[in-house]
Parts: sequence; C-alpha cells; structure tokens
Amino acid sequence: MPRMAPSGERTDATPPTFRHFIAGEWADSTSGGTFESRNPADLSDVIGRFQGGTAADVARAVRAADVAGGLWRRTPAPKRGEILYAFGALLAQHKERLARAMTREMGKVLAESRGDVQEGIDIAFLMAGEGRRMFGDTTPSELPDKWAMSVRVPIGIAGIVTPWNFPIAIPCWKMMPALVTGNTVVFKPSSDTPHCATLLVELMAEAGFPPGTVNLVTGSGADVGDAIVDNPDVPVVSFTGNTETGRRIAERTARRLKRLSMELGGKNGIVVLADADLDLAVDGILWSAFGTTGQRCTACSRVIADRPVLEPLLERLERRTRALRLGDGLDPATDVGPLVNIPAREKVEGHVEVGRRDAELVTGGRLPATASLGRGVFYEPTIFAGVAPMDRLAQEEIFGPVLSVIAVDGYQEAAIALNQTRYGLSSSIYTRDANTAFRAMRDFETGIVYVNAGTIGAETHLPFGGVKATGNGHREAGHAALDTFTEWKSIYVDFSGRLQRAQIDNQPA
Ligand code: NAD
Repeated sequence: MPRMAPSGERTDATPPTFRHFIAGEWADSTSGGTFESRNPADLSDVIGRFQGGTAADVARAVRAADVAGGLWRRTPAPKRGEILYAFGALLAQHKERLARAMTREMGKVLAESRGDVQEGIDIAFLMAGEGRRMFGDTTPSELPDKWAMSVRVPIGIAGIVTPWNFPIAIPCWKMMPALVTGNTVVFKPSSDTPHCATLLVELMAEAGFPPGTVNLVTGSGADVGDAIVDNPDVPVVSFTGNTETGRRIAERTARRLKRLSMELGGKNGIVVLADADLDLAVDGILWSAFGTTGQRCTACSRVIADRPVLEPLLERLERRTRALRLGDGLDPATDVGPLVNIPAREKVEGHVEVGRRDAELVTGGRLPATASLGRGVFYEPTIFAGVAPMDRLAQEEIFGPVLSVIAVDGYQEAAIALNQTRYGLSSSIYTRDANTAFRAMRDFETGIVYVNAGTIGAETHLPFGGVKATGNGHREAGHAALDTFTEWKSIYVDFSGRLQRAQIDNQPA
C-alpha cells in the first residue's frame, strides 16, 4: 500500500508529492507545476516534489490569513500562547524525526539538526510565555483624573520568507512571535528545504492553530517571494537571506511603506590574541568555521591572529582540519556534511580560485578524493593564510567551509581588521586579559560578541541580529522579536467628566 501523508501522497515507484497549506487544507498550486528537493549528500535521493507556487496561490493564502485574522487577533493572548505551548511540545516529541529529515534535506550533521529543532522548541516556549506577558506601560498622566497606557497590537498578515540553513529554527523564530501577538502568517520557505517546512506546518496544524492562521506556499523567490512582498494586504515582512536579496526586497517594501525585518549576510571574525588559550581557540574556530559546512550566518570565515601566536595557531588549525571527516550527516562518524547544492559549491570553488592567487593555501581547496562522496556536494574544509583585511577572501561572504587567516600586531590592529567589513553579525575574541575582553565588547561592530567562545551559539531569549549590511535594525528572538510584529497603541482615558487639554491646562495661564 502506498503511504499517505496529510501533506503529500506517494506511490512506491515515485517520490511523494507535497502540497501548499492554505486555509487549513493541503492544496495544489494553480500552476500545476512542481519542483524536486534532493539530498545533498546523495543527489540521487529525491525527497519529494513540491508545489511551484504562483502569485494566485499567494493571493489565496493571503485571503485565508485575512479571514482567520479577524478571530485570531481577538483570541486572548494567553489562549494563543497555549497553542504555542502545544506546538513546542509536539516539536519536542518529533525532534528526532525532524532532525533526520533536516539532515537528509540540507546536509548538516545530525547533532546540529537536533540543535536546529531545539531552537524551534525554545522559541515556541519562550513566545508561549509572552502570551501572558507582552507588557505595555501604564504611566501617570500629566492631568488629574486621567489614565494613560500603551498596549501592543498585531499588525495583520505577516509574510515570512526564510533561507535553508536553519529550516526549522528560523521559521519558528519568525512565526512564533508573529502568531502569539495576534498576526496570521503566509510562510514561504527556501526551495532547498520545502520538506522541513511541510513537516513543521503539519505539526502546527496538529497543535491547533486555527485554519488560515498559518499558510504555507512553496516555490521560487521570483514567483512566491515577490508576490508576498508586493501584496498590499501583507503589511509586515520578515526576511532572512542574502544581503542582495534583502536589498531588492527592501526597495519593494519601501515603495509600499511596509514594515520589514531583515537578517542578512555575515563575514564573522574571531580574534586570537597572544595571551589566548590556543587549544580553546582552535576548538572554537573549527566549530565556528566548519560547523554546518560553514553555512551558518554566524559562521567564522576570518581568523585575526596576533603575530606571536600565528605559527602555532596555523599549525594546530591545519592538523585538526585535516582530521575532519566528511560524509553524510546521518553517519555518526561525520564531522562535516555536504554543501546545500551545486551552485553553492561552485561559489566556493570560485572563491578558492581567487584565494589561490591572493593568499597561501594551507589545506583543502579541492573536492574530496573519496569515491563515495562523489554522489554528494562535498568540498574539503579549506584554510588560507596570508590574507589581507581588504582582500576579496576577507570581504565577501562565501557561505562554505573556507577560512581566511589574517595576521595583525596586537589588539588595536585586530579590532580595526575585525571591523573592516560591510557586515556586522557576530564576532569573538580569545584573550585571558579581562580589560582587553571588555574593550572588545565595546569596540567590535557586531550585533553579537563572544568572549572566549566561537562566533556561533546564540540563545533564544537574547536578541539576535546584526548591524551594518547584516540587517536593518530589527532583532529576532528575545523580547525584541515582538517589536517586529506589533504596533504600539497609546490609550488615554479621561474620567474627569470635563474638557482637559493636554499641554495647556497643566500650565499656568
Ligand atoms: P536567499 O537570499 O537566496 O534566499 C532566502 C529566501 O528568499 C528564500 O526563501 C528565497 O526563495 C527567497 N527569495 C529569493 N529571491 C527573492 C525575491 N526576489 N523576493 C522574495 N523572496 C526571495 O538566501 P539563502 O541562500 O537561502 O540563505 C543564505 C543567506 O542567508 C546567507 O547570506 C546567510 O548569511 C543568510 N542568513 C542570515 C541569517 C541572519 O540571521 N543574519 C541567518 C541565516 C542565513
């Protein structure tokens, strides 16, 4: 018997076909077209076919979100929070299944996929609690017998456009605050991870989000993403992705005066000073540079090394990097999985060619020789030394397992080099000197700073986001996430029974 899934169907001969989720129903695209998602560790493994969405599909989803919004925004926030709790519990129950599906679809090793799902669980529970907080202010009025307060109100329909590298965590980081504050959502995942998105939305439906509050439309950025961004009934868009995509979205949303929250590219650096614990630094650098095959927004792609420790640091990095095992992320022996797709590997290869001209290749810089890895999109973890701060290698986001080492003399030069990038997401310093650590916390121009830890490992109850070309001033996670999805409404209640004029009647005539 063919296995039937709520979102898709399969015969034994063909991969399953999955559908959009609109108004609480699994629905085909009006285009009739579909696209495939494949396992990057073995490109012959087809995970499924997904709907190639259209502007008409988006319009249906927006209508459903609009209808659902009337009731949802009037549902008491603690009740909305209860559904988020139920969803968090379901995610926890299905964590292993989702993590395995994630590794199969985008390649990261299983332990990291579990961490990705855990971020979803954490934000679901954190935001569920916001259902009972969501604090505004009550404040004294300048006039007698008058009450003054401010409350958060939902904006309406939130367009959620997400990348593939955190296919559960990032959609949850956006949808949980959007929903608990009373918005409804139209969600467009990356076309590299539509299966993760489908599994996520299945659980949201099971948790009890009413039909139409959560709508999923799969498809390309040009067809589905643009239609969400341009739809006049979607007043707020939350986007994570490439800086250039973000710039285009910002131009479109600006023309319509929409609210837009963006989390974009990074070029994160780790400073290693002469007094650092080198073994600790090497552990942090390897985890930050080659975890998720270098495809984290917070991945470390620049090491800024104080010259007295440059040689021992390079020696240890080279030795440890050569020992990393490439393979399918589902294999417990694997340290580094594949890149997400062939264009991603071609991009890495292009940058490595530039590096060969401008810098000194320490290790990697090629496809792995192991025959079985030929089925997937693998690339050897790569290190370049002798990189100057303004070289292309040190300036452009590669989004792959490529690390550049820049030599400097002392803290001052290191801080200048660290800040010499258009991006500003995450940074780190390894030093044993507390005063220097505090100078770095002050001086590093990034939204996140780590001391004696790598550039990755954000926790969901703190604000997450970057400065400069990494974003546009919003933050995800923490209380700050509520700001993206709510308007402030200031309310005055005059119980004096007479006309009282603010700014006039409290002044001497
Ligand atoms: P991407 O910009 O190619 O795609 C992101 C999403 O935008 C996808 O769903 C895509 O289909 C959609 N899209 C593409 N064109 C669009 C358009 N014209 N209109 C609307 N939507 C469109 O990014 P990606 O390759 O999926 O992700 C990698 C990038 O994401 C990297 O640059 C990485 O640094 C960044 N990222 C940033 C953070 C952060 O928090 N700062 C987190 C994760 C990833």
